[in-house]
Amino acid sequence: MRTLGPRGAVFLDRDGTINAKAPEGDYVTEPGRLTLLPGATHAIRRLNDAGALVIVVTNQRGIALGRMTDADLEDVHAQLRSILEEEAGARLDAIFHCPHDAGACLCRKPAPGLIYQARAWRPEIDLARSIIIGDSRTDWAAGQRAGLSTILLGRDASDLAAAVDALLSRPAPFRRRFPPQRGLHLVMP
Ligand SMILES: [Mg+2]
Ligand SMILES: [Zn+2]
Repeated sequence: MRTLGPRGAVFLDRDGTINAKAPEGDYVTEPGRLTLLPGATHAIRRLNDAGALVIVVTNQRGIALGRMTDADLEDVHAQLRSILEEEAGARLDAIFHCPHDAGACLCRKPAPGLIYQARAWRPEIDLARSIIIGDSRTDWAAGQRAGLSTILLGRDASDLAAAVDALLSRPAPFRRRFPPQRGLHLVMP
């Protein structure tokens, strides 16, 4: 796993990563159905404090299926932001969602479209120094296609808090690749 670097962003899946998944075939259709997973709020706060852009990329096919509207999703995300702020003073820099049905677009993960939307929003994001954390192989695959590092929950880390621990405990890649050359300065006049 590469590490987060300058201009790196942390892309987070939502359902099963930040909040509990709805039962199979169901969706988090209203704020009252949003339950955050243990440790998630503080993990995101730690990413904020580390200076990373924190960007949620989430498939919300329930919109295409008529189970909820864009406005419902906005309400859920307002609630998510409110819980993050209240519990940990944490924030999300952006949320990109795919409202489409499977096979209908270039943004539903495992396609990398949401990641590219984020880079269009903030062109300074260096994808090769960015990472995606998610609980599904589709998150992993979207990250692979966009050239991100990946942490697959349940395989590489137990949960978001553990993933953030692993990410923040590693040295910055520029330090590894380009170690300070103090000796060079010592021999120069
Ligand atoms: Mg998920
Ligand atoms: Zn889409």
